[in-house]
Amino acid sequence: MSIYEELWSPKLLEIPQRSRLFSLKPVGIGTLNTESLSSYLNRLAQEHCLTSQKLIMGEIAPLILINEDKSELLTKSVNHLLGNSDAKPAINGMRQMTRQLVTVLEQLTMRQELHFLTLLSWKGLIYDRGLFRNNRAWCPCCLEEWKQEKKTIYEPLLWSFKDVEVCLSHKQRLVDECPHCGSSLPVIAKSSSSGFCSHCYQWLGIETEGKEDIEKYRVNIQGIGELIALTPQLEYKPISIELTRKLQLILLVFEQAIGKNLKLLGELGKMMEQLKIATKQHQNKPYHLVKLIIPVCKKAKISVSQLFLANFKEFGEILFENFGLKLRL
Ligand SMILES: [Zn+2]
Ligand SMILES: [Zn+2]
Repeated sequence: MSIYEELWSPKLLEIPQRSRLFSLKPVGIGTLNTESLSSYLNRLAQEHCLTSQKLIMGEIAPLILINEDKSELLTKSVNHLLGNSDAKPAINGMRQMTRQLVTVLEQLTMRQELHFLTLLSWKGLIYDRGLFRNNRAWCPCCLEEWKQEKKTIYEPLLWSFKDVEVCLSHKQRLVDECPHCGSSLPVIAKSSSSGFCSHCYQWLGIETEGKEDIEKYRVNIQGIGELIALTPQLEYKPISIELTRKLQLILLVFEQAIGKNLKLLGELGKMMEQLKIATKQHQNKPYHLVKLIIPVCKKAKISVSQLFLANFKEFGEILFENFGLKLRL
């Protein structure tokens, strides 16, 4: 083929499919600093130079409220779609509206990983009542640090949890009221920018020296963080029955360990009672993350990741070794 023919041959250009909305990359997937769905929505609106309300009511709501008039939706507030209860951090959890928002956002941005910005993968396995805060919360030092270092300002999913009361990096209590106007803030408001108050629009970051005693919070925060980080590795396995089997195995190991050393009864006895009740009652009921799963892992000297990611045989070997038991599966 001559150079002329090569240059002018009418080859069709392969143009990749375009997404309706900017295919914004979420922050920190697969780490304990994974971004939350509400933060992603607010950042996506900023990328389009829209308020969160315009993005949600103009682009997302018409695909969920399909029987309503599109131009009328645009004049309504986010509460028309979300209601008051879904403007709370629980929207980052496993609600029906969470699933609808994620499905539509994954279509519009052509990103497949947005469900990892929520706890949707844990529906049916983890009990979500009381797990989330009622309002936005943030570490002012994290925000200020990211701003100074010119990093993306966002809100981690971790900050949505009630039991995450402090920032482990800054030894600082999370703040849930704007220091300028005193408002409690919904995670999705008419105009919500990460790092700014959605009421008075002032910056929420501040550099202060944290002096909070964080040790008493560490186990729960690390447990929740690990759960968030390992979610992309679950691969949609049907793990509910497997989790119950693993918890029953822990119970057996505790019994054996006490049989060997009666002194362990004081340390493990109460937890064994809770495990007995929870595994018996499970029958499709979710488990309590902070009251059961995390403390059981601590007593069994395993990490939350080991509980969910190790296969049953590996898991047994880890447990037997932790308690010096000569058992086999
Ligand atoms: Zn911090
Ligand atoms: Zn304010």
